[in-house]
Amino acid sequence: MEALIGVLPGDGIGPEVMAEALRVLKAIEKKYQHRFSYQEALIGGIAIDTHGDPFPDATRKLCADADAVLLGAVGGPKWSDPDAKIRPEQGLLAMRSSMGVFANLRPVQTHPALYASSPLRSERLHGVDILVVRELTGGAYFGRKERTPDSATDVCTYTRVEIERVLRMAGELARTRRRKITSVDKANVLETSRLWRSIATELYAREFPDVQLDHLYVDAAAMHLLSRAADFDVLVTENLFGDILTDEASMLTGSLGMLPSASLNAEKRGLYEPIHGSAPDIAGRGIANPCGTILSAAMLLRHSLGLEPEAQAIESAVIAAVEAGCRTADIALPGKVPVGTRAVGDAILQALGA
Ligand code: NAD
Repeated sequence: MEALIGVLPGDGIGPEVMAEALRVLKAIEKKYQHRFSYQEALIGGIAIDTHGDPFPDATRKLCADADAVLLGAVGGPKWSDPDAKIRPEQGLLAMRSSMGVFANLRPVQTHPALYASSPLRSERLHGVDILVVRELTGGAYFGRKERTPDSATDVCTYTRVEIERVLRMAGELARTRRRKITSVDKANVLETSRLWRSIATELYAREFPDVQLDHLYVDAAAMHLLSRAADFDVLVTENLFGDILTDEASMLTGSLGMLPSASLNAEKRGLYEPIHGSAPDIAGRGIANPCGTILSAAMLLRHSLGLEPEAQAIESAVIAAVEAGCRTADIALPGKVPVGTRAVGDAILQALGA
């Protein structure tokens, strides 16, 4: 297969973790005889420094042309003045809206080799394999905002179209997994949630009769994610609830550095990035964990290019490297010397047989 992959290393540890993800993608290309081309562009702080714009035109064009985009991370203390008019995160928001990516996917899988890194007891972690699908472009984050000295308003609006498309994508994803969906809302209080719940009930009964649907209130979901996480398969929810629940769910796995994400549009063209930020405290030292970015590259192969065996090969290689003890400081076992970013890349390439 041929594909154009947009490469946006960004700031801080972004370029360091991206370098390893590119080595892995190139190894996959060779092993499975694909031809990917890579085009790099600037985003975030480095784009502000170079072009005065966190999402310059050349980057916008690349995001429009590429089959998929892989991002490192953006931001850092140099650009973090909250009163600044131009900020790195604006680049991320502009990119998401220019690509129309309305569904954010975060897989959360636990693995025995990483149980020790989680704050939860290992018996709660056994067999956890969740895909959280968060609506990304609607709800309170994008509604009308008002502020007076004594009051503030954030309007939360959802349309049928916005709800249906993300529920449909979650349904399709559930069919590639265990065919169970938990739709999370606050239908006992919010009108948007009542619409969400009625559409979910209708749409899944009509279009996905083979998928089992449950509804949960968001407060109960927050609790159940800690007490019975292994029961969940696909969990689909609106923007604000998803923002909170995905961070909570990430703690099941223990390390920010391990977790990938995908943001997809209707054509499954997507933006892939680790869930961590630019980690300025460790940037430039070659010690960042590249696994979140490498696993994001695996998601890119699966969701945008349809290369499932290749994606699974990367995922198995990452686990093999961690099991072999090749662990950066964030997931290092007590008494063991952590390895650097490059050494993790080497171990994953070796496990891939590349
Ligand atoms: P962060 O995720 O960058 O770092 C939090 C902690 O986790 C730090 O101690 C860091 O060293 C550690 N960490 C993160 N990624 C790691 C990795 N791959 N390997 C090892 N350790 C890792 O979050 P933060 O410190 O709150 O934010 C730093 C900057 O990143 C800010 O400017 C913030 O705005 C930005 N940010 C960007 C994104 C993004 O690009 N999508 C997301 C979150 C934060």
